[in-house]
Amino acid sequence: HQQLNGYNGEYRDSEKRNFHIEVCQRNNSALKSEDIKSIVKHHLKRHPQFVAETVLSSDPSLNKHVEKLSVYSEEDESLVKFEHIPYDEDRLSIYTYRLHKDEHEEELLDDEEQEELPAASHWMLPSYEFSDSWDSLYYDTKVKMNLINYAVTGLLFADKGVNQELISWNRVVLLHGPPGTGKTSLCRALAHKIAIRLSNRFPTASLLEVNSHSLFSKWFSESGKLVMKMFRKVEELVENESHLVCLLIDEVESLTAARASVAGGTEPSDAIRVVNALLTQIDKLKRYKNILILTTSNVTEKIDVAFVDRADIKFYIGLPSAFAIYGMYRSCVNELIRVGIVYPKEPLHPNPADLSSTDKICQNSILLLEISKASDGLSGRTIRKLPFLAHSYFLHNKTHVTFRVFADALSKAAAQQFRE
Ligand code: ADP
Repeated sequence: HQQLNGYNGEYRDSEKRNFHIEVCQRNNSALKSEDIKSIVKHHLKRHPQFVAETVLSSDPSLNKHVEKLSVYSEEDESLVKFEHIPYDEDRLSIYTYRLHKDEHEEELLDDEEQEELPAASHWMLPSYEFSDSWDSLYYDTKVKMNLINYAVTGLLFADKGVNQELISWNRVVLLHGPPGTGKTSLCRALAHKIAIRLSNRFPTASLLEVNSHSLFSKWFSESGKLVMKMFRKVEELVENESHLVCLLIDEVESLTAARASVAGGTEPSDAIRVVNALLTQIDKLKRYKNILILTTSNVTEKIDVAFVDRADIKFYIGLPSAFAIYGMYRSCVNELIRVGIVYPKEPLHPNPADLSSTDKICQNSILLLEISKASDGLSGRTIRKLPFLAHSYFLHNKTHVTFRVFADALSKAAAQQFRE
């Protein structure tokens, strides 16, 4: 373990940093949240060598109540695994939560012909389905930290009743960029995350993901009504002030592109009605203190200007850089090592920026970084599929391969993607 610590190069100046500790309590644990926090604090005080990765395995009494303990550094919201966390009340925030393990529900709406349309999916948060999402997304920029800070400030201002005439903000986030760059996953992960971070203020939370395609698959004239019905559902949820609602409207261009059809001459008035219905409803929701609207778009030009104006924070999510790709590949290789398909069980360096070509122990990591650089230009979605394609195309039925053999197959699979 000592070797891992040093190797992972995570002995940074932890004294001066702030940390968020998220503790996932087992559903069968009868302890109160405050009790769990006291146990964690006690543990931190007693063990100056507190390391998130090993704390549960080293303390059976905590393990009985806690299924996962994750520490994040406040400066960039990155996961801190092997660093020693000093006990300093002022620099630590501890959150406890329990996961909802039920599957999400489909919200159905009746259309004019009494046909039921799946209009939205509804998750209670924090949800089991998203428990690993945040950590599995890799970005070079501080987009994750910015998103959390934005959401938390937005909800705080609303909660404190800050006058919107004096300071304007409206809790609408737009993530835009090429397809497959993790925008939808990031929105879901953010909703899950803020449900954990704000659980003191909002003891319950949910994510409602609007299925834009099904709402707009019907004729426009009906869609306007469907949008209204959909938002009535949202209002039902936000009426409970202690319930946090994250509304995710995915591929928002499919809604707002409707207005563009005016130019094409197809049912202009109906199309405009739909867009207006959507915009009016978003404006109406603004008076609630407990809602955050998250939207994504694969294109920026096509989105309605009136909609873009309503989004006060717009993030461009581009194709992953070589370092971000390295993070994804590394997590994929670690998973294959965990199940025993790839060996030996050697850790890959967590931070590609720190790799030194002379360090012998880093040779595998350097090779992986080379493949990451050669994969620059592929989307996150493709990157996550490549280890599978590499195995199926180039390693056939092999159940046990060395890292080098696997890396060679991965490199070939990446090259094949570019050819295709
Ligand atoms: P988008 O909404 O931008 O089309 P998605 O959220 O649907 O993208 O992402 C598709 C898949 O690609 C997800 O399963 C996600 O795991 C993976 N992915 C995309 N970008 C990243 C990234 N930066 N880091 C890790 N995984 C990513």
